[in-house]
Amino acid sequence: MFPATHSIEIACNDNDLNHDGFSTLIPSTINSNPTITPGETKPQLISEETIRIWLKRDSGQYWPSIYHTMPDSCSCMSFNPETRRLSMGMENGTISEFILSEDYNKMTPAQTYQAHQGRVTVVLFVLEMEWVLSTGQDKNFTWHCSESGTQLGLYRTTAWVSGLQFDVETRHAFVGDYSGQVTILKLELDSCSLVTTFKGHTGNVTALCWDPVQRVLFSGSADHSIIMWDIGGGKGTAIELQGHNEKVQGLCYAPHTRQLISCSSDGGIVIWNMDVTRQETPEWLDSDSCQKCEQPFFWNFKQMWDSKKIGLRQHHCRKCGQAVCGKCSAKRSTIPLMGFEFEVRVCDSCHESITDEDRAPTATFHDSKHSIVYMHYEPTMGWLLTSGADKVVKLWDMTPVVS
Ligand SMILES: [Zn+2]
Ligand SMILES: [Zn+2]
Repeated sequence: MFPATHSIEIACNDNDLNHDGFSTLIPSTINSNPTITPGETKPQLISEETIRIWLKRDSGQYWPSIYHTMPDSCSCMSFNPETRRLSMGMENGTISEFILSEDYNKMTPAQTYQAHQGRVTVVLFVLEMEWVLSTGQDKNFTWHCSESGTQLGLYRTTAWVSGLQFDVETRHAFVGDYSGQVTILKLELDSCSLVTTFKGHTGNVTALCWDPVQRVLFSGSADHSIIMWDIGGGKGTAIELQGHNEKVQGLCYAPHTRQLISCSSDGGIVIWNMDVTRQETPEWLDSDSCQKCEQPFFWNFKQMWDSKKIGLRQHHCRKCGQAVCGKCSAKRSTIPLMGFEFEVRVCDSCHESITDEDRAPTATFHDSKHSIVYMHYEPTMGWLLTSGADKVVKLWDMTPVVS
């Protein structure tokens, strides 16, 4: 999942990376799976078998203050800035915890959890509960008490888990997996109950992001799409966002501006305005003939024979969902409020009804120029960190576009 790291490279400032209002700070280093600690210019990063804490020096460049070698490969991490607690998920199934000193120059081992058989896929420390939530290659979702180190509960998932979020207020865990499903679990101290499952993706879930204020969950998938699940609304609304050409790799939410930041493996970063009223995409209707010109579709032998007509292929208008033939749906349009930032097939009458105003984009598109494997947004600084398959970490000043 993460690229192997064998050597260090520091790239210097590269002004070519400025793009579409992005101004970049470039302390670029080889790495994988990093996060930034808020309020400080101290991004904290790891590589495959080492943990490195990068401090911004007076020179403006980042140099490691800590270089800690682990007994096995690191597979995921969670950092809590308030307690400076670093929870590292390992390839061998354990979670190792460290406490960082105030000046970020020292790291003290705190405890180790024997959490999983096989790779830890996601780890999440929840300070309010003093819980360490984790999922593993063994398809177990577990939670441990971070005070005593004991395991509190366990739930068997149906597939590998690749996304995990937690709502502190209601103690719901959101678990996204390789089958494309999102499971909601209600956690008690030592047990959990299955609340519901959502299935909307055709590819595995690659990222989850929970907004506790609006009570919406965003899921990103290998099927290139993002779905916004309106959980708080209680109406089961699910809005699709189509703005990536490749697998979605990360999702972050900027609550103060109601913008969603998503990234994909082709390096695309999309910033979505979620402060607009979006529409659900329609269900696709079934018909044996075009719902516009009434010509039969190719499986409708009776009508083809009766009217001596050649059967046509069925298409669907993305706006109204009607089953239409190719001739009645020759035009294409973006439908930003339905999440279609790229042009999609629409029927002729829908094409006429879409105004230029309707076509105003609700997202901006940016190129990070590396294949993103991990992303972290720090709202207080307005910084976005992307980590690439090229083993480079880039820090982006998002204030020009997320404000
Ligand atoms: Zn037709
Ligand atoms: Zn239509």
